[in-house]
Amino acid sequence: LFVSFEGIDGSGKSTQARRLADTLTARGHEAVLTREPGGSPGAEEIRALVLQGDPDRWSAETELLLFTAARRDHLERTIRPALAAHRIVICDRFADSTRMYQGLSRGDLRAAVDQLHELMIGQEPDVTILIDMDPAAGLARAKSRQTVEERFEDFGVALQEDMRTGFLALAQEFPDRIRVIDGNRPEEAVARDVLDAVETCLP
Ligand code: C5P
Repeated sequence: LFVSFEGIDGSGKSTQARRLADTLTARGHEAVLTREPGGSPGAEEIRALVLQGDPDRWSAETELLLFTAARRDHLERTIRPALAAHRIVICDRFADSTRMYQGLSRGDLRAAVDQLHELMIGQEPDVTILIDMDPAAGLARAKSRQTVEERFEDFGVALQEDMRTGFLALAQEFPDRIRVIDGNRPEEAVARDVLDAVETCLP
C-alpha cells in the first residue's frame, strides 16, 4: 500500500505521517516512512540543491526538472523496492506537491508537470491524505520551526491561501484517491481520522 500525505506548510502532515507509521508498526505491519523532496540518498542531494541557498538560482522550469529527477530516484531506490516487498510506504509529500508548488506557485506549469509525471513517474499513491488547514495557522506553525533550508515558507499567507485552494481543487480532481481531513483539530483527533481512512484501504 502506498500512502501519501499532502497539505500546506505547517498543516501537520509530517507529524501525522510519523504517527501513522508508528501505529501501523505497532500493529505488526511493515511500514516505511519516507519524504519528498528526498527519500533516497540522491534525492536528498537534489533536495539540498533546490531548498538551500539562493531561491532564484533555478528557473521555475529547471526547478520542476530537479523535483522530477528527485522523485524518479526516490521511486527507483526507495518506493518501488518497498512496495515490491509488500511494505506500507508512507510518504510525506509526493506528486500532488509538485502539481501545486511547481505547477501553480511559480507560474502556470501544470501541463508540463502532468507530461513529465506521465513520462517519468507514472505512479500514484493508493490513497492520499490531504490535511486541510487554516492558512494563517499553518504559516504561524511553519515559521515557528523554520530551518535555513525551508526558503519556500517565506512566501507568506497569500501563497498559503492559494495553495490551500489548489489542494482542495486537486481533491476534487482525484476524488477516488484523495481524502480530505480537517487538520484544525487536536493531533489525536486528526490521527484517528487518518488511521480510519488508511485502514479501509488495507487488504
Ligand atoms: O514538506 P517540507 O516542509 O519538507 O517541504 C520543504 C519545503 O519545500 C516547503 O517549504 C515546501 O513548500 C517546498 N516544496 C516545494 N515543492 C515541492 C515540495 C516541497 O516547493 N514539490
